[in-house]
Amino acid sequence: MTDRPQSAVMERRYRLTGYSDREGEALLQLRSFDSPARVKRAVAALAVWWGAAFLSLFIPVAHFLLVPGFLMFGLVTFVRRLKTSAVVVKARGICPDCGAEQDLDILGSWSESRDVTCRQCHRSLRLTAA
Ligand SMILES: [Zn+2]
Repeated sequence: MTDRPQSAVMERRYRLTGYSDREGEALLQLRSFDSPARVKRAVAALAVWWGAAFLSLFIPVAHFLLVPGFLMFGLVTFVRRLKTSAVVVKARGICPDCGAEQDLDILGSWSESRDVTCRQCHRSLRLTAA
Protein backbone atom coordinates (compact mmCIF):
# COMPACT_ATOMS: atom_id res chain seq x y z
CA MET A 1 0.00 0.00 0.00
CA THR A 2 1.35 3.38 -0.97
CA ASP A 3 1.30 6.46 1.20
CA ARG A 4 -1.36 8.92 0.11
CA PRO A 5 -0.20 12.52 -0.02
CA GLN A 6 -1.70 14.60 2.76
CA SER A 7 -1.78 17.65 0.56
CA ALA A 8 -3.97 18.59 -2.33
CA VAL A 9 -3.45 21.00 -5.22
CA MET A 10 -6.45 23.14 -6.13
CA GLU A 11 -6.95 25.97 -8.57
CA ARG A 12 -8.58 29.22 -7.54
CA ARG A 13 -9.42 32.41 -9.39
CA TYR A 14 -8.53 35.76 -7.84
CA ARG A 15 -9.16 39.38 -8.74
CA LEU A 16 -6.16 41.47 -9.76
CA THR A 17 -6.51 45.23 -9.29
CA GLY A 18 -4.08 48.05 -10.00
CA TYR A 19 -4.24 51.81 -10.61
CA SER A 20 -6.87 51.72 -13.35
CA ASP A 21 -10.49 50.89 -12.58
CA ARG A 22 -10.30 47.78 -14.76
CA GLU A 23 -9.84 44.38 -13.15
CA GLY A 24 -7.58 41.55 -14.19
CA GLU A 25 -7.89 37.91 -13.29
CA ALA A 26 -5.33 35.58 -11.81
CA LEU A 27 -5.35 31.80 -11.61
CA LEU A 28 -3.50 30.34 -8.65
CA GLN A 29 -2.59 26.73 -7.97
CA LEU A 30 -2.52 26.25 -4.21
CA ARG A 31 -1.20 23.22 -2.40
CA SER A 32 -3.01 22.91 0.92
CA PHE A 33 -1.80 20.82 3.85
CA ASP A 34 -3.76 19.08 6.58
CA SER A 35 -2.38 18.95 10.14
CA PRO A 36 -0.28 15.75 9.77
CA ALA A 37 1.25 17.08 6.53
CA ARG A 38 2.11 20.40 8.21
CA VAL A 39 3.83 18.60 11.08
CA LYS A 40 5.69 16.35 8.63
CA ARG A 41 6.92 19.37 6.61
CA ALA A 42 7.93 21.20 9.79
CA VAL A 43 9.88 18.23 11.17
CA ALA A 44 11.61 17.71 7.80
CA ALA A 45 12.75 21.35 7.77
CA LEU A 46 13.93 21.11 11.37
CA ALA A 47 15.92 17.96 10.57
CA VAL A 48 17.62 19.61 7.58
CA TRP A 49 18.66 22.79 9.46
CA TRP A 50 19.70 20.99 12.63
CA GLY A 51 21.64 18.53 10.48
CA ALA A 52 23.44 21.52 8.95
CA ALA A 53 24.13 22.78 12.49
CA PHE A 54 25.62 19.41 13.43
CA LEU A 55 27.86 19.34 10.34
CA SER A 56 28.97 22.91 11.10
CA LEU A 57 30.43 21.70 14.41
CA PHE A 58 33.44 20.45 12.45
CA ILE A 59 34.26 23.79 10.79
CA PRO A 60 36.80 25.62 12.99
CA VAL A 61 35.98 29.19 14.06
CA ALA A 62 32.94 29.46 11.74
CA HIS A 63 31.05 27.04 13.98
CA PHE A 64 30.65 29.82 16.59
CA LEU A 65 28.24 31.56 14.19
CA LEU A 66 26.98 28.70 12.01
CA VAL A 67 25.78 26.34 14.77
CA PRO A 68 23.54 28.84 16.64
CA GLY A 69 22.47 30.34 13.32
CA PHE A 70 21.30 27.03 11.86
CA LEU A 71 19.66 26.01 15.16
CA MET A 72 17.67 29.26 15.29
CA PHE A 73 16.78 29.16 11.58
CA GLY A 74 15.59 25.57 12.03
CA LEU A 75 13.25 26.63 14.83
CA VAL A 76 11.92 29.60 12.87
CA THR A 77 11.30 27.41 9.81
CA PHE A 78 9.65 24.75 12.01
CA VAL A 79 7.15 27.26 13.46
CA ARG A 80 6.50 28.84 10.04
CA ARG A 81 5.75 25.50 8.41
CA LEU A 82 3.45 24.49 11.26
CA LYS A 83 1.39 27.62 10.58
CA THR A 84 1.40 27.31 6.77
CA SER A 85 -1.87 25.82 5.59
CA ALA A 86 -1.30 26.47 1.87
CA VAL A 87 1.51 27.41 -0.50
CA VAL A 88 1.27 28.84 -4.00
CA VAL A 89 2.60 26.35 -6.55
CA LYS A 90 1.87 28.39 -9.67
CA ALA A 91 0.33 31.80 -10.31
CA ARG A 92 -0.61 33.36 -13.63
CA GLY A 93 -2.58 36.51 -14.26
CA ILE A 94 -3.41 39.41 -16.55
CA CYS A 95 -2.30 42.87 -15.44
CA PRO A 96 -5.30 45.24 -15.38
CA ASP A 97 -3.09 48.24 -16.20
CA CYS A 98 -1.04 47.05 -19.20
CA GLY A 99 -2.88 43.85 -20.16
CA ALA A 100 0.21 41.64 -20.10
CA GLU A 101 -0.42 38.00 -19.25
CA GLN A 102 2.37 36.72 -17.02
CA ASP A 103 3.51 34.40 -14.26
CA LEU A 104 3.16 36.21 -10.93
CA ASP A 105 5.97 36.23 -8.37
CA ILE A 106 4.04 34.96 -5.37
CA LEU A 107 5.41 31.52 -4.66
CA GLY A 108 5.44 30.43 -1.03
CA SER A 109 2.91 30.53 1.77
CA TRP A 110 -0.46 32.00 0.88
CA SER A 111 -2.85 34.33 2.67
CA GLU A 112 -6.13 35.52 1.20
CA SER A 113 -4.68 38.70 -0.32
CA ARG A 114 -1.25 39.68 -1.52
CA ASP A 115 0.54 42.50 -3.32
CA VAL A 116 2.50 41.67 -6.48
CA THR A 117 4.40 43.71 -9.05
CA CYS A 118 3.68 43.55 -12.77
CA ARG A 119 6.73 42.32 -14.70
CA GLN A 120 5.77 44.44 -17.72
CA CYS A 121 4.79 47.88 -16.35
CA HIS A 122 6.28 47.41 -12.83
CA ARG A 123 3.14 48.75 -11.13
CA SER A 124 1.96 47.38 -7.82
CA LEU A 125 -1.09 45.12 -8.09
CA ARG A 126 -3.33 43.62 -5.43
CA LEU A 127 -4.64 40.07 -5.47
CA THR A 128 -7.94 39.52 -3.67
CA ALA A 129 -10.61 36.86 -3.64
CA ALA A 130 -12.87 36.99 -6.72
ZN1 LIG B 1 1.29 45.70 -16.04
